[in-house]
Amino acid sequence: SQILLHRVLPFSKRLMSATILPGESVVDATAGNGNDTFFLAELVGEDGKVFAFDIQQAALEATAGRLGELTSRVNLILDSHADVDRYVNQPIGGAMFNLGYLPYSDDKSIITKPKSTIQAIHKLLGMLKKGGIITISVYDGHDGGKEERDALLAYVKTLHQADVHVIRYELLNQRNNPPFLVALEKVRDFEEVVRV
Ligand code: SAM
Repeated sequence: SQILLHRVLPFSKRLMSATILPGESVVDATAGNGNDTFFLAELVGEDGKVFAFDIQQAALEATAGRLGELTSRVNLILDSHADVDRYVNQPIGGAMFNLGYLPYSDDKSIITKPKSTIQAIHKLLGMLKKGGIITISVYDGHDGGKEERDALLAYVKTLHQADVHVIRYELLNQRNNPPFLVALEKVRDFEEVVRV
């Protein structure tokens, strides 16, 4: 039988699949081990481009290993997603965030932070095509996770409903601090978020 109420990561991928077109440029804001980068590289096809950010060299190496031949469709960028506008100068079809620390890493103290996460989302909303979606998988079980969660939720609630539709999606009966999803759909064309 077919599942409709997917877990967070598969659900976020379905949203991306529904909106991203072959040939588009897209952003993986948190490359990590490259699972979402790989997924996005397949979605955009050979004429598309994925800009994949991480502040850890080890993450970009893991991502390159995961990509194999698809590496040619991906720009691996060792820098913070907060500076996305230094690297991406074109409209984007979508963006994915997976917050928190790098899974399987020895150093779980390197985590996404409220300020840079919100700066990146803010800039990406300007670059996003009308009808495009940004997915953000939020973990709040680690040190620093609750602060980031609260700052993110406060920020997205300031977005004007005529500009962006904002949802929160979560499974309520899962064990071990599962992530929840925040997804933003740009419903009006604008280059910068100004209305509050
Ligand atoms: N989606 C990834 C995967 O499929 O494996 C997992 C991402 S992991 C939960 C979060 C990643 O964000 C870590 O690798 C971490 O180094 C990275 N990160 C933390 N702060 C960042 C920043 N300011 N800019 C870009 N990446 C950042």
